[in-house]
Amino acid sequence: MMNIPFAESYKIKMVESIRRSTRSEREKWIKEANYNLFNLRSDQVFVDLLTDSGTGAMSDRQWSEMMLGDESYAGASSFYKLKNAIAEITGFPYFLPTHQGRAAENVLFSTLIKAGDIIPGNSHFDTTKGHIEFRKATAVDCTIDEAFNTTLDHPFKGNVDVQKLEKVLSSNPAEKIPMIIITITCNSSGGQPVSIENIRQVSGLAKKYGVRIIFDSARFAENAYFIKLREKEFANHSIREIAREMFSYADGMTMSSKKDAIVNMGGFIGLRDQALFQQASVYNIMFEGFVTYGGMSGRDMNALAQGLYEGTEFDYLETRINQVAFFGNLLREACVPVQFPIGGHAVFIDAKRFLPQVPKEQFIAQTLAIELYIEGGIRAVEIGTIMADRDPETRENRYPDLELVRMAIPRRTYTNNHLHFAAAHIINVWERRNEIKTGYSIRYEAPIMRHFTVELEKN
Ligand SMILES: *Cc1c(COP(=O)(O)O)cnc(C)c1O
Repeated sequence: MMNIPFAESYKIKMVESIRRSTRSEREKWIKEANYNLFNLRSDQVFVDLLTDSGTGAMSDRQWSEMMLGDESYAGASSFYKLKNAIAEITGFPYFLPTHQGRAAENVLFSTLIKAGDIIPGNSHFDTTKGHIEFRKATAVDCTIDEAFNTTLDHPFKGNVDVQKLEKVLSSNPAEKIPMIIITITCNSSGGQPVSIENIRQVSGLAKKYGVRIIFDSARFAENAYFIKLREKEFANHSIREIAREMFSYADGMTMSSKKDAIVNMGGFIGLRDQALFQQASVYNIMFEGFVTYGGMSGRDMNALAQGLYEGTEFDYLETRINQVAFFGNLLREACVPVQFPIGGHAVFIDAKRFLPQVPKEQFIAQTLAIELYIEGGIRAVEIGTIMADRDPETRENRYPDLELVRMAIPRRTYTNNHLHFAAAHIINVWERRNEIKTGYSIRYEAPIMRHFTVELEKN
């Protein structure tokens, strides 16, 4: 009997050309880009794994929804379509549209966070941390220690360490802790899921100390898929049932719809409490737009509503997670050090184990990301010292435990052949890794979220 290979739960109706380049072209382009991969033009990249954010392919149904968009300033039918989809999938009765995830953070945090506050959680996403620190508050990472060992097998490496969390909650007054943020899946620790069991424990502590829980929910559907596969209690539940169960423990959510809702732009805030919704509405009107569009076109709200349904279908998620695992396993089989288990949306290379000879002051993960681009036109992103930024107090570089190169897989966009192509190039770099001895130094950096605009020079 043949082993039946995995096949996608969709077929292709429209294509977009991409062009291969030569090594010498890429060497020139990356230098001109000041060795910052964000500065490359997309046509200088062959397989673009920079991010899975807003880079997915919309379905025929989403495109049809675009034609039905209602562009009324107030009370558009598209708003109500989206409101219903959000209520059905998350259970939150109140919602505010925003133009993307960080805008949702900006609005909600303007309502809730003041200087001196403390916001514990699992590893905060970079824009989340940026919005916290911009308000002179502190994000405290309470992720389980297992998350920081890339070789250790653990089904829920995104989990919050409840002892670390309780320490923060018990040693600070509740007024200083406006929320606990649980990021599902935990992006910064490698696209790793959080279990319902863990969410329940955090919820118990939150109740005990009178602190609200907010989910940073960009990849909630992938989180639900992992729960279905790895948490016995939920093996026979649908993805939507699991999502409802997850959200039932939260007081609110911020969402970057560019991830699991499979749209190119958009975000929202979901809330349970009417008073908080009213306060947040003031900031939404100031920063984003009137409460029934908040920075989104009617057609985009329609596509988002449809994307929420498609993104929570089991077959779609199975296709997606299997493709990411396919890519990760090609690298593992060649002994390339990747974060294990393979995460939901991306494969993460452990750059310290790939290039142990490069000093951390020379940005190990960035050095590797540049090599992968020069080798094969593959664009990945550094999740290491450059992204970790400087300590807001001391202005010293923060050296995180993990130096990762993230290769995020856009949804429904590349075939397995593209990923096979990328893996072969990465393995070639692995085989010549000893030749890479030095990294880069910073020539220019912005005072916050420097990784987007940093300029580097070769050492
Ligand atoms: C992408 C993302 C954000 C920010 O959303 P944008 O849409 O990029 O502004 C926040 N949190 C998490 C976990 C994310 O993945």
